[in-house]
Amino acid sequence: MTERQRVFFALWPDAAVAAALYGAARRIHAQTGGRLMRRDGLHLTLAFLGEQPAGRVEALRRLAASMTGEAFELLLSHAGAWQRGRIVWSGPGAAPPALAALAEGLAGALRAQGFEVERRPFAAHVTLVRNALAPPPPEVEPPVRWLVGEFALVRSHVGTDGARYEVIGRWPLPAPDGDAAG
Ligand code: ATP
Ligand code: MG
Repeated sequence: MTERQRVFFALWPDAAVAAALYGAARRIHAQTGGRLMRRDGLHLTLAFLGEQPAGRVEALRRLAASMTGEAFELLLSHAGAWQRGRIVWSGPGAAPPALAALAEGLAGALRAQGFEVERRPFAAHVTLVRNALAPPPPEVEPPVRWLVGEFALVRSHVGTDGARYEVIGRWPLPAPDGDAAG
């Protein structure tokens, strides 16, 4: 029997960004009702792999290490809802080019290695509330500023009260050339 792990690539906020995002989530949740996501589980999914044999996780680490991405700033200023309003999220007005390049680069590299990934266009979002009962406001006020300098491989432990996540790898995104460091 092969052990399987449920894994995905994501942007994982540091404690300060997670706190700001959680503050926004609580304000929005006051309007929407439903199930507020846990502060320590807030994330932006880059590529979802699903259940993988544990032995394939090493290939995912090698693939991550071979990615050439760049750091970028993400401004989470917009809110919206999917799945007939049940999933409430926050996202940028438009994905920064470096974010779209990272998500598309990962998807391409994963497919080249035989992993099946989502074919729908990448839609950058952080899920804040599930099973919402009312629509969210259209904007996150104040917007959450997130300086993204790494991406992560995350393991998901799905339980009856929602998933618990475990970051199992992190890879830096270097500052772009010409960016003054200070
Ligand atoms: P639960 O499934 O218990 O409600 P969850 O959706 O947060 O919790 P996972 O299903 O493990 O946990 O998903 C992990 C992340 O990947 C989440 O951000 C989820 O939205 C995203 N995700 C799940 N399935 C897909 C998919 N088929 N395509 C793209 N992203 C997905
Ligand atoms: Mg799920």
